[in-house]
Amino acid sequence: MAVFDMRLQTLQDEITQFCCQDAVPVGQLYFPSWERYEQMFSGIFEREYYNNNGPLLTEFESRIQSFLGVKHAICTSSCTMGLMIAAQALGLKKRVIVPAHTFIATALSLQWAGVEPVFCDVDIKTHHVDLDKLESLIDDSVEAILAVNLWGGAAEVEKLEAIADKYGLTLYFDSAQAFGCKVGDKAIGNFGHLEVFSFHATKVLSSAEGGCICTNDDALAAKIRAIRPSYGETNPPNIVKVANSRMSEAQAAIGLMSLDDFDENRANNKKLYHHYKNRLDRIPGITLLKPQNVSYSNYQSVVCEIEEDTYGCSRAVLIDVLKKNNILARRYFYPGVHKSKGFINESLQLNNTDCLSNISLQLPIGAKVDFSIVEYICNIIEFTHLEHAKA
Ligand SMILES: *Cc1c(COP(=O)(O)O)cnc(C)c1O
Repeated sequence: MAVFDMRLQTLQDEITQFCCQDAVPVGQLYFPSWERYEQMFSGIFEREYYNNNGPLLTEFESRIQSFLGVKHAICTSSCTMGLMIAAQALGLKKRVIVPAHTFIATALSLQWAGVEPVFCDVDIKTHHVDLDKLESLIDDSVEAILAVNLWGGAAEVEKLEAIADKYGLTLYFDSAQAFGCKVGDKAIGNFGHLEVFSFHATKVLSSAEGGCICTNDDALAAKIRAIRPSYGETNPPNIVKVANSRMSEAQAAIGLMSLDDFDENRANNKKLYHHYKNRLDRIPGITLLKPQNVSYSNYQSVVCEIEEDTYGCSRAVLIDVLKKNNILARRYFYPGVHKSKGFINESLQLNNTDCLSNISLQLPIGAKVDFSIVEYICNIIEFTHLEHAKA
């Protein structure tokens, strides 16, 4: 008992001593150095060229292509717009299977394209789409699968390709969170008919706001470019709808600097992730998810599951304690998309999605976090556990 009380006291002291002045959010939020920013932006001002397939955008797209080993990288104003354009370019008209455990934008892109989503449950262990359940949803009304790669991991992309082949379905990916991840030697961005990344500020590669559609299919790439728009292409392919989803030179500039820093930022994430792992693995009732199905992770997110009985209190209580100490942990994704406005389907029973939405907790990782903040967060989590275990 004495040992227990001493540990509790030590944790209490460490938490009190560490002064966490600014709130720490979930999200990568890496910024390039101000000097490089100035230099990049002075170029934009010298050229007096803000937009329309400028030199920085062209360079950014070709750098992404080499980085991922993909034939076409087509930048857009966001991942959500990229997914909407993708649905249009793929000519989807029937129904599309999509996991319900995802960010609402995945499903919104289908809604905008006038396509009905068929929500599929996920695997409770991996958080990614459950292939058996997915296969059981395939019928004549389904023409595509929109899979999602989450948390610095991926769905079982090769098995998904085999299923898509077997049934003659279109397969594409919301890879918003997966830039830089690899499956074997192949980078995410090369699977299915196409993949869409997000370069939102919370993602590991940021262009302040933006996205990118990657594909190895020339005809599809031409269509996507024409929809985005075509930038005066003389012979655009026949398409029904066009959109404005340009990426500006200012965004491309930030994207280029972010790409320069990618390896360093990813290495920093990896260190932070392993520090979390060392600490959290020793706290009962907390399970840290490891990056799923990838040979190389970008460590986009730190996601753990809380087993209330073993941990000692509910996720809500822990979130509250963390918040009082300036740590803005989040429950992602809550609720599942099948229970979100615009998509509510009472008759749908997706037990794993529901379960994960109740037990998952996302902790801060990225530029706003360092070793001592991870210590601080883990001290709070351990303290809260011990305090409840004692009670
Ligand atoms: C961030 C995210 C999006 C949206 O990306 P935007 O660039 O903000 O449109 C879509 N899907 C998932 C899974 C995401 O994490």
